[in-house]
Amino acid sequence: MTTTDSRVLRAELLSFDADPGENDTPAAGSLRYFEDGALWIEDGRIRAVDDYARLAPELPEGIEVIDHRGKLITPGFIDSHVHYVQLEIMASYGRQLLDWLNDYTFPEECRFAERAHAEALSDAFLDELLRVGTTTAQVFCSSHPVSVDAFFTASQRRGLCMLAGKVLMDRHAPEALTDDTRGGIRDSERLIGDWHGKDRLGYSVTPRFAPTSTREQLDAAGGLLRNDASLWLQTHLAENTGELDWVAELFPGSRDYLDVYEQSGLVGPRSTFAHGIHLDQEMRGRLAGRGANLAFCPSSNLFLGSGLFDRLAAREAGLNVSYASDVGGGTDLSGLATLKTAYQVGQLRGQPLTAWQGFYGLTLGNARALSLDERIGRLAPGMDADFVVLDPHATPLLARRSARCRDLGETLFALMMLGDDRTVAEAWAGGVCQHRRDG
Ligand SMILES: [Zn+2]
Repeated sequence: MTTTDSRVLRAELLSFDADPGENDTPAAGSLRYFEDGALWIEDGRIRAVDDYARLAPELPEGIEVIDHRGKLITPGFIDSHVHYVQLEIMASYGRQLLDWLNDYTFPEECRFAERAHAEALSDAFLDELLRVGTTTAQVFCSSHPVSVDAFFTASQRRGLCMLAGKVLMDRHAPEALTDDTRGGIRDSERLIGDWHGKDRLGYSVTPRFAPTSTREQLDAAGGLLRNDASLWLQTHLAENTGELDWVAELFPGSRDYLDVYEQSGLVGPRSTFAHGIHLDQEMRGRLAGRGANLAFCPSSNLFLGSGLFDRLAAREAGLNVSYASDVGGGTDLSGLATLKTAYQVGQLRGQPLTAWQGFYGLTLGNARALSLDERIGRLAPGMDADFVVLDPHATPLLARRSARCRDLGETLFALMMLGDDRTVAEAWAGGVCQHRRDG
């Protein structure tokens, strides 16, 4: 006998089917919205999405209906670039990228050689992600394989869809963190065998960035991708001007920073390059031509003084842009906070972010950029039941603001400006409520 796990959530529902464009009103057909909607989930998947009144006659007798009227359900948020091993060094005062790595990041990452520490931080990180409504992320671990085992084990236990990988770094870091050129690749191969494609997990080949890997190691990382087109690739690109100078010095045979990665075969449709602030249009075009995406990490870019990401230049080049927290350089894990900061960066560049574009980006946009859109990113039949229940009345101030909103666009914008972890009433993944806000 089989039993089905089936229930309905009744709430406002919002889901994007396409990029809404840059206008103040979303492109026709780009989204579906139900003011009094029903989300029917069954065995970890979405079975139906419709107006409550239309779906109600079809529901089996006695099915549990969770009444969330007054709240808004969207697909679970996605974070395309974040370091779980940097959770506890968030908000460490200090200068720019290269100093920050040496003063805080590297000493902290040394602690992840210990399994117990990696396990404790994996759970703490996932608790924090779910608290802010992020149900999927692409995650940097440390260079220690055990940090990856711990993270995937914790993610698998909760039934989450997560991408992660072991940092490859065979030079220019403390000895306790550097791996052996070939040893780092062998460790990656072992981790790929153990975790890639298991349940909802995927492996991202993870060279930290060009300066901390030799050409030999970058080439070997490219070899992993050539052997298995289903693998992901995550690294950093053109974040900081000091970094650019260093890369030029280390790789005199490359015509620019991106060329370092191109020469090793690291640029493809499943490649995420964090930052990409200091690029010209020709380089953006090369990334677009290979279907790669840039992870826009606005709170990190402001915190480390790296620069103002040119989102519209990337769009003009046809380049996929994803949204990311980049914790620990980022100051907030929350996707809503990432959108707020992206809006502010956009204002300084004369390219403000609409709420439509922001919520599309956090959900379907990021799912597409990461090639995960067949499973997550939309509320639609057959998709995995990963979603968040947002409360536009979560705080007295938000309730006041929401009461003045005249339409959905205004409500979304208020959530993106004033929302935080208190706004996330519940986060569900794989059809299971993974987080419920207290009170
Ligand atoms: Zn990063």
